[in-house]
Amino acid sequence: MSLPKILAYTHQVIGEVLSVGGIAIDATVGNGYDTLFLAKQVGSQGRVYGFDIQQTAISITRKRLIEHHASEQVELFLNNHALLHQDIPLVYKGKIGAIMFNLGYLPNGDHQIITTAHTTQYAAEQASEWLMKGGRMTLVLYTGHSGGEAEASTVINWASSLPTKQFRVDWYQILNRHQAPSILIIEKNT
Ligand code: SAM
Repeated sequence: MSLPKILAYTHQVIGEVLSVGGIAIDATVGNGYDTLFLAKQVGSQGRVYGFDIQQTAISITRKRLIEHHASEQVELFLNNHALLHQDIPLVYKGKIGAIMFNLGYLPNGDHQIITTAHTTQYAAEQASEWLMKGGRMTLVLYTGHSGGEAEASTVINWASSLPTKQFRVDWYQILNRHQAPSILIIEKNT
């Protein structure tokens, strides 16, 4: 058996902790692949909150969810993920089982609209407070586009400084592939 592809790996890591009835956040819905994955994991009894700053991404994702009969459990917001507290009911703070960030630009979309270092760090910081104990957050980091290196190192520096007592932070990277994305996995300790 070969090792999973890098994006499939995030689904594996999240799938281990997110089950039916759970609550999840997709911080960057993009083309909706991760949103659909989360929606299937939590089922109709769960809840997924999805964010993107582009209407195109929200529309593509909504269409994908409808096609797969998985739209009922998902709320999509045309909003910056740094403002997630505006849209998610406060009662869910500390109760989110999984949070996914897939950074960079919308594939097949406008490559100038990208996630940025400070907003991403701030959003991830906020998100870590919404995570439940035992919950996991994944961040896929890309370095091949302008600003990507700076964003990746800002986020990695922030994650490295998270208190060991509260969090475990892993960083997964394919070392022998040029500019391969890497994955940060943040787990909140129980
Ligand atoms: N997870 C997606 C999927 O499964 O198809 C791919 C996400 S794509 C790599 C990154 C997305 O982040 C883009 O659609 C972009 O519009 C969005 N984005 C950029 N800055 C954002 C922000 N501040 N808040 C929310 N979304 C943002």
